[in-house]
Amino acid sequence: MPAIPPMDGNVNHAPHVVILGAGASIAAYLDWGSEGDELPSMQGLIDTIGLREDIENAGFEVVNLNFEAFYDELASSGEYPDLLSKIESKVYDYFSSLSLPEKPTIYDYLVLSLREKDIIATFNWDPFLLQAYMRNEGVAKGRRPQLAFLHGNVSIGICEKDKVSGVKGEVCSQCKQPLSPSRLLYPVKHKDYNSDPFIRGEWDALRTNLNYGYFLTVFGYSAPKTDIEARTLMLEVWEDNKSLELAEVEVIDIRPKEDVEDSWNEFIFSHHYMIVEDIFSSYLFTHPRRSCDAFSSATLMCSPWHDNPYPRFEELSELQEWVRPLIEEEQRYDKKKERFSGEPLQPNTGG
Ligand SMILES: [Zn+2]
Repeated sequence: MPAIPPMDGNVNHAPHVVILGAGASIAAYLDWGSEGDELPSMQGLIDTIGLREDIENAGFEVVNLNFEAFYDELASSGEYPDLLSKIESKVYDYFSSLSLPEKPTIYDYLVLSLREKDIIATFNWDPFLLQAYMRNEGVAKGRRPQLAFLHGNVSIGICEKDKVSGVKGEVCSQCKQPLSPSRLLYPVKHKDYNSDPFIRGEWDALRTNLNYGYFLTVFGYSAPKTDIEARTLMLEVWEDNKSLELAEVEVIDIRPKEDVEDSWNEFIFSHHYMIVEDIFSSYLFTHPRRSCDAFSSATLMCSPWHDNPYPRFEELSELQEWVRPLIEEEQRYDKKKERFSGEPLQPNTGG
């Protein structure tokens, strides 16, 4: 018998795990109207970041150069340390300079769609997730999801001595020295998720939550079969999940359905999955902050809730006001064990 997730009435305490890949940031960037600096893909990285000249000056030809393969070769050969550090510092600086526009973005909706029991794990280096996390602190303080940066991140600072991580630019809570930039993990053929203590800790957080998770959403991450290390780390804890037979996998991906199924079939129990192209049609965004509760009501208690889809807002404050009643309901549950209503909010209470 599969283990029923930890429920209290209609409140489900099991984590919703969200995994983000490059496609999530690209979708967010397109959705906000492509304002601001271009978001580079791995294929376009060399030109967006202006690496062509550096690479050519070192004697390489930049025709159809695959950045990932090239970096992998360069790093594993051990030759050209100057070129390697030049590439790394340009990549770091470029991603550091990116920022969210003022209007609400997919990242804001995403941060507000989950509770503190949930986790967002990202493979992306860009600072969007942490920027969205920080600017929604006011409305959701103490009620935002955990974050994990699986390849490091340009917005994270660390103190190696005290094993403290935080926002780059802040000081270490222990020694009061400024946090130093965290390392970025590059997409080399054989990734080592163990050597960097910060990155290892982020993977531990993801794995713990996958092991107890009730809902897994994958957004813009293709889980390449070549990325054996990442797949194995995720799969071994997910397969060991005692509620796996009851859990649901949702993949948000614009690739053909067959390709998506092929990427994720090892993670899917029986027919328990959904694939959507647009995050605003996802279960997560049609049941913000209540995905696990609504899904267990529907599947375990035969008492489905109405969808409560996010309206689209022009101002971030409108989005935050719309979410507020859900957060207040969570506070009432914590204080008085008052169950969730399961009723949709007014479609548009914003300004
Ligand atoms: Zn310190």
